[in-house]
Order: sequence, then structure tokens, then C-alpha cells
Amino acid sequence: MPQTLEDGSPLCRLVAWELTRSCNLACKHCRAEAHMEPYPGELSTDEAKALIDSFKQVGDPIIIFTGGEPLLRKDIFELVKHASDQGLRCVMAPNGTLLNPENVARLKAAGIQRCSISIDGPDAATHDVFRGVPGAFEAAMRGIQYLTDAGVEFQINTTVTKDNLHQFKEIYTLADSLGAKAWHIFLLVPTGRAAGMADQVIAATEYEQVLNWFYDFRKTTSMHLKATCAPHYYRIMRQRAAAEGLPVDRENFGMDAMTRGCLGGTGFCFVSHVGIVQPCGYLDLNCGDIKQKPFPEIWRTSPQFKQFRTPSDYEGKCGPCEFHRVCGGCRARAYTMAGNYMAEEPLCSYTPKRLCKAL
Ligand code: SF4
Ligand code: SF4
Repeated sequence: MPQTLEDGSPLCRLVAWELTRSCNLACKHCRAEAHMEPYPGELSTDEAKALIDSFKQVGDPIIIFTGGEPLLRKDIFELVKHASDQGLRCVMAPNGTLLNPENVARLKAAGIQRCSISIDGPDAATHDVFRGVPGAFEAAMRGIQYLTDAGVEFQINTTVTKDNLHQFKEIYTLADSLGAKAWHIFLLVPTGRAAGMADQVIAATEYEQVLNWFYDFRKTTSMHLKATCAPHYYRIMRQRAAAEGLPVDRENFGMDAMTRGCLGGTGFCFVSHVGIVQPCGYLDLNCGDIKQKPFPEIWRTSPQFKQFRTPSDYEGKCGPCEFHRVCGGCRARAYTMAGNYMAEEPLCSYTPKRLCKAL
């Protein structure tokens, strides 16, 4: 496949699709502030299938069926099968509590290749507080067991906060003992319900320490570890690799060597439950409505996406930074913490070389 579309737009590699915003949990950090009640305006089955039919026009994206809780959508199996039949890699982000042997078998038959389950504490006491529902930990563990029994791969996602930072090793150990294929850590974006968790956001210097720890820890395990929505990890990875004399290539760093920190609008996008296309789920920026305009046209022509693809449009230190190409800074944190989605990443402590010279 070519590296760009014929008009020069980047390929769309990953789509997170919020099939429904309804959810049976009430997680503290939920970007969608989701609740159980139905939300009006969700895409109909036909609209959802038409969206799936358009994905291949902009690449061969992996589709993350997410929510809310995607299992609350009645036509979930039909939609997954529709996407899978077109050769799209289908993965899902359920919260784990509604999985049972019957729906896991149906998801597998429909074509789900991996599920991600969020675990934010190594035990019920810590995880349940975070998730807002007593019993969420036990239910997620049961869900993971059903996935394992059915032979469906799973990964663990963990959001980094002040409260769970000291438990990271234990969470990893849990993921390993459960047989997770991967462990992805997410840096908290204080938006949605997490806006009230500003006190849980760790400082830029602490992120530097966490991401350096992550770099070292990654070498001690064969499990795939990924820092997600921590774009400056890709700067740290290169700085550390250079200091160690290690080439940043596929052999040494796997897919991390090929990807960019923030892919929002450049290789990835989010489609909301009502069909609004956004750079990502944490950045509530309307880049087009698929009920008004076909998805491929939005991907190619959205003015905001074009900004994200233009280094000189980035403000502050993220524009001139020599790591811009591999990082880009988190646009969602820039928006929620500085009020400008093109501002510099608020949680990066690095001073680009070009700015050092100017000082
Ligand atoms: S804007 Fe931030 S939260 Fe969104 S994809 Fe980029 S790094 Fe992740
Ligand atoms: S200054 Fe911006 S682009 Fe450079 S490493 Fe930090 S977050 Fe990334």
C-alpha cells in the first residue's frame, strides 16, 4: 500500500469508533462522562454500515469498537462482522464487566481479534474506586477469564494518576499473570469526568521519570508495552537510545520505531456515537459530521486535520522541536490545560535545541 493517499493526505491507520455513549460504569476519568441511559442521535445500523463501507477509501485502518460500553449496542455483532468481512482488523474496548461466555463466543465469531480491558489498580480496593462501581474489578477479572477461555487475545490499559503511580509494577505483574498480550499506559487527559481530577495529573518532571522508567522496564519483559497518549515518550525513547548507541529501528523497538506519539488527525481519528469526527476522543473538536459529509472527505479535507499535519501550525515549543515529527505533543492536553489545541504540550519538560540556542 502507498504511504499516502493520491492527494497527499496521510493514510488513516486507526479509527476509534464510539458505537454508543451508554455505559454501565461511571469511571472517574471518563472522557465521555458516560452513563447508562440511552443517548439520542446514535447512528442507525444502516448508517453505521455505510461508515464501515467508506473506511477502505482512506487506508486499511484498524477499527477499535469502543464506547461508552460497546456491548450495550444491540447490533454490535452484526457491525463487527460487516467490518471484518471487508478485511478490516477489528478490536474492541469493552470495560469487561458485561462479557460472558456467550457474547465472547459471538464476538470471536464476528471477527474481534483483541479486546482491551482497563485496569487502573492491582486489586479491587483501588480499581473499584477509580471505576466508580463496587465489584468492577471482580467483574473485569471474570471477563478476562472468558476471553482467555475462548482464546481471544486481550491487553490491559492503565491510566496513570498520582494515586496509582506507585502501584505500576503490581499492575504490570497482574497483567502478566493474567496472560495479557500487551500493557498500554495512558497519560491522563483532564477532560470529561477527569476534568475534576486535575489533582491527579502528575507534573511534567514526574512524567519524565515515569516514561524513563517505562523505557527501562520495557526491556525486562517480552510483553508488548506501549505508552499511549504520552507523545513525548517517543522523544525520550530516541534520547535514551542515542545515549545507549542503539539504532531506533524495528529490530530494537518494534512498532514504536515506526509510529508517532500523537496520531490524532494524522493517522488516527475518533468517530463519536452521533457521527462527529474528532482528532481523538479526548479532544472534543468537531472536524466534520458523517451525516453531512462522507467520512473519507472529512479525513482528507478537515481544516483542523490539515493543521495537525502542518508542523508550522504548531505553537510554542512543539512546532520548532526537533522531535516534532515523532512526537507532536498531546493536542487534547494543550486544549484542556491551555485552551488552545495547537499550543505546546503542557506536560513536557523538554526545551528544543533551537529554542536553547535562542535563549
Ligand atoms: S491528542 Fe492527546 S489524547 Fe488525543 S491522540 Fe493525541 S496524544 Fe492521545
Ligand atoms: S516540545 Fe513538544 S514536540 Fe518536543 S518533545 Fe516536548 S511535547 Fe514533543
